[in-house]
Amino acid sequence: MSILVVGSIAFDTVETPFGNVEDVLGGSATYFSTSASYFADVNLIAAVGEDFPDEHVAFLKEKGIRIEGLQRLPGKTFRWKGYYDYDLNQAHTLETHLNVFEEFKPSIPEDFKDSEVVFLANIDPDLQLSVLEQVKKPRLVACDTMNFWIENKPDSLKRLLSRIDLFVINEGEAREFAGEYNLVTAARKILDWGPDKLIIKRGEYGALMFGGNSVFSAPAYPLEDIFDPTGAGDSFAGGLMGYLANTEGGDAYRQAIILGSVMASFNVEDFSLNRLKGLTLKDIHKRYGEFKSLTHFEDLQ
Ligand code: AMP
Repeated sequence: MSILVVGSIAFDTVETPFGNVEDVLGGSATYFSTSASYFADVNLIAAVGEDFPDEHVAFLKEKGIRIEGLQRLPGKTFRWKGYYDYDLNQAHTLETHLNVFEEFKPSIPEDFKDSEVVFLANIDPDLQLSVLEQVKKPRLVACDTMNFWIENKPDSLKRLLSRIDLFVINEGEAREFAGEYNLVTAARKILDWGPDKLIIKRGEYGALMFGGNSVFSAPAYPLEDIFDPTGAGDSFAGGLMGYLANTEGGDAYRQAIILGSVMASFNVEDFSLNRLKGLTLKDIHKRYGEFKSLTHFEDLQ
């Protein structure tokens, strides 16, 4: 089954304790689509400027991502500049230039309108809402966001939450949005705003899923070589939604969270999409197995 995604396509300038890159391909929709493309068909909705090179468009096509909903608008592509210090869980934004996203009016191609699975990746919540309004009757709608939108458009974000099934957010942002330090209390408050399930991403500490009365805790892969956490959240969401697009019931959510964690663990091993783009299903399944043995234990004797 295919996934409809809207989000940012960006030029990122990033500094981490292990190196730096300037104006490399990034953006929430780019990381999400590349990661999800290993598991499902992806229909992308986004905008780029006149400065966006054809080679990046060719890369998306090579990954099998459908780009009929990608608009090239007058002006510049979205740009984000940030850095990480030794706490790699915390991105520090230095500059955000919305550029073409200030004028972007998402228009969903006719064939994408009956998408059953929708991912509203991190972008202006009003754009996320406008995409959702154009989709007919989705079975599963999930969304992500970040502090920039929590601080600038909290009301739009709450309106959006009342219409989605699954909300994926990182730990610091969950605390900020809910105005609560305790994560369990923050989760309860966010779930009261609408979604059935909430996944809180905790960087190198894994992820927690809340919903109904249950909590599931997933580990992160203990990696020795981490170069750049940018895009970890979106590649996590790509694995998660890619699996949920084709699997329902049973333990699907738990498996999907681990698959998401697998994709995020690969992504942080290099800058931009360098590691994510060359994976094979064999690499992915091998690491999934390693995740399984990482947390497996037997009952007491
Ligand atoms: P993450 O997966 O959370 O690390 O997201 C990383 C991506 O988010 C980067 O490639 C940025 O280009 C993109 N990004 C940063 N700020 C924003 C924003 N305000 N809106 C949309 N995308 C953003």
